[in-house]
Amino acid sequence: MIDIGPDFRLQTSRANVIPDTIVITHGHWDHIAGIGELPYYMEEVLKRDLNVYTDETCMAFIRGMFPYLFFEEKTEGSTSIVGFGESNQYQIFWHRIRAYEAVEANDMKILPFSQHHGGSDSLGIRIADFVYSPDVKSFPVQSWDCLADIDTWILDCDYWEPSESHGDPETVLKLVDQFKPRQVFLTHMDEKMDYSVLKSWFVDRGYAHVVPAYDGLMIEPSST
Ligand SMILES: [Zn+2]
Ligand SMILES: [Zn+2]
Repeated sequence: MIDIGPDFRLQTSRANVIPDTIVITHGHWDHIAGIGELPYYMEEVLKRDLNVYTDETCMAFIRGMFPYLFFEEKTEGSTSIVGFGESNQYQIFWHRIRAYEAVEANDMKILPFSQHHGGSDSLGIRIADFVYSPDVKSFPVQSWDCLADIDTWILDCDYWEPSESHGDPETVLKLVDQFKPRQVFLTHMDEKMDYSVLKSWFVDRGYAHVVPAYDGLMIEPSST
């Protein structure tokens, strides 16, 4: 699972998904607030340990917001292992990741890369030819290699108007022209982004392969 928003319990139970690995892209509320639910979720639903991957900056945010979840810390190399403490049956294993350093998790190669998100950076996540880019205004040149040969791109399109920290339709068009992904699903839209209006906006410009995502959407690779 990528990010853990405030409604993650509702979303995962509705989609019948039980994540055992979570990658977190940055420390904003809408991407980490569900962490507060984890102790109960792990006891009642998951019933096993959980691996969480994020970078140093985001981990610092999370530690500040949920200090009681970081009861005990042992360090093994670059991996920080932190648990709820002895009264809890299951543990969260926190793994520090860095942009451009791939990690293996659940037999998947996860490649984080930097994205400019206004005053701070977020992590984009690449897994094979699937790329997840929430909360991004632009990409540093260093990240361009990570955006080559994308099959499925989940991409920020928050507002109609350009903003400092998020995507908009015109920006999405430029990115699609530059990196030529086979299919794009827009995410993070605000309440002014009507689904059918946004969909038509791209169809009208000859970009029918760029469509708004929605809760519960199932995505297939474009080649199947
Ligand atoms: Zn954000
Ligand atoms: Zn966000």
